[in-house]
Amino acid sequence: SKKSLKGFFRRNLFVLFTVASVVLGVILGFALRPHNLSMREIKYFSFPGELLMRMLKMLVLPLIVSSLVTGISSLDRRASGKMGVRAVVYYMVTTLIAVFIGIVIVMIIRPGKGSRDSPAVKSGNIESIQATDAFLDLIRNMFPPNLVEACFIQVNLFHFLPVSAISCETVEETVPVSGSSAGVNALGLVVFSMCFGLVIGNMKEQGHALKEFFDCLNEAIMRLVAVIIWYAPVGILFLIAGKIVEMKDLAEVGGQLGMYTVSVIVGLLVHGLFVLPLLYFLVTRRNPYSFIGGLLQALITALGTSSSSATLPITFRCLEENNHVDKRVTRFVLPVGATINMDGTALYEAVAAIFIAQVNDMDLNFGQILTISITATAASIGAAGIPQAGLVTMVIVLTSVGLPTEDITLIIAVDWFLDRLRTTTNVLGDSLGAGIVEYLSREELQNQDADLRNSVIEE
Ligand code: ASP
Repeated sequence: SKKSLKGFFRRNLFVLFTVASVVLGVILGFALRPHNLSMREIKYFSFPGELLMRMLKMLVLPLIVSSLVTGISSLDRRASGKMGVRAVVYYMVTTLIAVFIGIVIVMIIRPGKGSRDSPAVKSGNIESIQATDAFLDLIRNMFPPNLVEACFIQVNLFHFLPVSAISCETVEETVPVSGSSAGVNALGLVVFSMCFGLVIGNMKEQGHALKEFFDCLNEAIMRLVAVIIWYAPVGILFLIAGKIVEMKDLAEVGGQLGMYTVSVIVGLLVHGLFVLPLLYFLVTRRNPYSFIGGLLQALITALGTSSSSATLPITFRCLEENNHVDKRVTRFVLPVGATINMDGTALYEAVAAIFIAQVNDMDLNFGQILTISITATAASIGAAGIPQAGLVTMVIVLTSVGLPTEDITLIIAVDWFLDRLRTTTNVLGDSLGAGIVEYLSREELQNQDADLRNSVIEE
């Protein structure tokens, strides 16, 4: 049994490291708080964490492109079509369920009832946005006019909205609206890579060299991920400790904002710990919690980085190495999921919008609640997988029912925290989705394996 204990530890070494890094990060963070470090000192202190963020982001672009191109070109057209439909149905259904849960909980808890705690910062110049404009922009982002540029610049969801319009003082410091911090226009790259993969798949012999190239690139990137994974616990420790040192006093977050935070957390827990696992169980008849156990590292990375894009490399590894999900599925489904499937974000958008309505004493009718459900779903699809993107896309939800957009400032104080939790839920949703799609597609995958064997024998 000593041997099996050793084996257990070796297998779970990374997971143990990662869990230990969170615990140590929290302890270190709270130990340093009383020292009132300056902003510069905090920056120095969090430097190892910043490096982890940069390393992960560095891999995201080649990872998305290579995995989607190889994933799709190695599936036959029928299989990829079916898999795609299953994934999209899963994304839509789970996102809508998340929104529904959020609405029910915020209606029960009613965090915004009573008189207003604090006046919102008036920014005055936020233009009203039509839902149509936002929708068109979502589609616009699917077709980046310049692929090279799309690799560097986050095309903002609000093309028509000057960045200055969202920049109430506080929003400006917290929300990464500017191009430099945001990374890549993942949606555009996803669409391009999928089309490119389809074309290469159809080219048969002619496309062989390109297919090999992307296969090889994907393999190489995954090996880099294996290296970075050793560093991840250190990075996560400092990311978490740095944030705890930096955060404002939690005691200040009382009253309405506190209840709002509780509502979002309860919603995320219900969705992530009960609804999604139940769905996984109903479809696959397998134990969802052992599947989730294999994802622990990805979930903790999501918690540490607040970015589902940056977590993507780790999510890949967890699913393939720990949960043995077929690579043809992960390569196809994960990059798309990390870009458009955000259950946690959708839930949060719905709760936040209704909370703001409650604070403003506005009674919402059924039509308005329906509008919030639809726009919250759209806003979660449109949000990039980067820190606090959901806060920016909130504008769509608020304007769709005529709520004051400057009230976003009411919820900013706790957003960094809720962002981490919703990102973790987002990653969980993507991963369970990959498991479900694999299970549903097992027949096509087996057929394809058989075809491949036959063609090898023929040769
Ligand atoms: N940070 C989230 C993510 O990366 C997006 C959001 O702000 O809700 O998944």
